Amino acid sequence: MDEEFIKKQIRDVMDFPIKGIVFKDITTLLKNADALQSVVQELYERYKDKGITKVVGIESRGFVMASILAYKLKAGFVPIRKPGKLPALTWSESYDNEYGRDTIEIHQDAISTDDVVLLHDDVLATGGTMLAAYRLLGHSAPRCIYVNFLVELEALGGRKAFPSGLEVDSLIKC
Ligand code: AMP
Repeated sequence: MDEEFIKKQIRDVMDFPIKGIVFKDITTLLKNADALQSVVQELYERYKDKGITKVVGIESRGFVMASILAYKLKAGFVPIRKPGKLPALTWSESYDNEYGRDTIEIHQDAISTDDVVLLHDDVLATGGTMLAAYRLLGHSAPRCIYVNFLVELEALGGRKAFPSGLEVDSLIKC
């Protein structure tokens, strides 16, 4: 993967959704066929030998790559969603993010103890969202958990939020 090429496909949008935030817009990457192929292939190579059985995507931008990867890895796809969106019994977790406080949910029967899970989201900022997702998986106690982001905002130090020993990976560091 040509990191510089991929980096150039991610658009910075100033002051979105609130003043002071530089929003990393991945829609410009997703619409570029060459960039999309390259990113999917790179992620596939990184995880193809890990025995992943479920790819879990975080609403909503995390759904895109998580679904494509699940298909490529011949794994299942599981959504983590905002409160009240999932129809069956859920586990919930609240957390602080860059913009305020939020809650995410997963179906209680989505993951089993046999699963090897890849948790995916588009951007790592403070790490609050992904840490909440990781905690949600704690209810189901899968065999192994890997964490992946397309973009890591290194200056925010979100990586430090995770327990040592957890494999946290990002494609592009900004
Ligand atoms: P955090 O919990 O602080 O790591 O924030 C990560 C979540 O918020 C991800 O779901 C991202 O999609 C979104 N997010 C936070 N900051 C940004 C940003 N600067 N650009 C794009 N998405 C962001």
